[in-house]
Amino acid sequence: MRIDLHTHSRASDGTQTPAELVTAARAAGLDVVALTDHDTTAGWDEAANAAREVGTALVRGTEVSARAGGVSVHLLSYLQDPEHPALADELARARESRVHRARRIVERLARDVPITWQDVLDQARDAVVVGRPHIADALVARGVVPDRDAAFAHLLASDGPYHVDHYAPEAPVAVAAIRASGGVPVFAHPAADARGRIVPDRVFDELAEAGLAGLEVHHRDHSPAQRERLLEIADRLDLLVTGSSDYHGAGKVNLLGENLTAPDVLDEIVRQGTTEVVTA
Ligand code: AMP
Ligand code: FE
Ligand code: FE
Ligand code: ZN
Repeated sequence: MRIDLHTHSRASDGTQTPAELVTAARAAGLDVVALTDHDTTAGWDEAANAAREVGTALVRGTEVSARAGGVSVHLLSYLQDPEHPALADELARARESRVHRARRIVERLARDVPITWQDVLDQARDAVVVGRPHIADALVARGVVPDRDAAFAHLLASDGPYHVDHYAPEAPVAVAAIRASGGVPVFAHPAADARGRIVPDRVFDELAEAGLAGLEVHHRDHSPAQRERLLEIADRLDLLVTGSSDYHGAGKVNLLGENLTAPDVLDEIVRQGTTEVVTA
């Protein structure tokens, strides 16, 4: 069984439509794929229809933006009730804040490089969540940088001069909202230190207390030493261990299925979740 529990579509900052993503998952030989766009469930229906057609099982989820002591963190929510207001209201608030924040980043950038808000809208197209990757695409289209990676290296860096944060709930609040909505919360790439600050260990204890179900240990942004460390933490706190690609289509080098989750871990996620897995 090849199970990949973390991917993005054009509903957020991936480069493929939800249907294209599911088709690509099938072509990559995955038995199960999770669609986990940032702060939205907008891609769920299209992905579900495609999953029924191509015969790849689909886990519907969301990658929820959150903060822990000033550090930006991501929490994967699996199989929640998308209508339940506990999580849906937090996601709506984050999406709204993301638009204002993206406009402010563009205003700051525009002092030094050629870019307009319309450029970003042209790139985001049907995305319901605006993110820095869309600003990166606008910079690429203008010839300012060669690719998304280069845009993030300086102009869009979290610790750079143009950066602006958006609203996101505190991580224990987000974990509780995911659980209240019938979802299963897994801490995404919790030790990805190349991308910015990571949380101190006590946050794992706090989130486990708040209802966290698992840690995404196997992710390309984790070194072997970080994976060892996270496995020990998961063992100590009795948390599930997942592995995933964090695929963004052509927007990142990550390949579907490059990290996988064990079938018994998926079984436990399904047992704890509310929304069913889509199968052919
Ligand atoms: P935002 O959610 O708007 O703060 O933007 C962060 C998102 O940008 C992350 O979820 C990643 O998907 C993406 N990202 C971060 N670093 C890079 C990079 N070096 N190249 C491409 N995408 C990146
Ligand atoms: Fe992303
Ligand atoms: Fe993430
Ligand atoms: Zn992701």
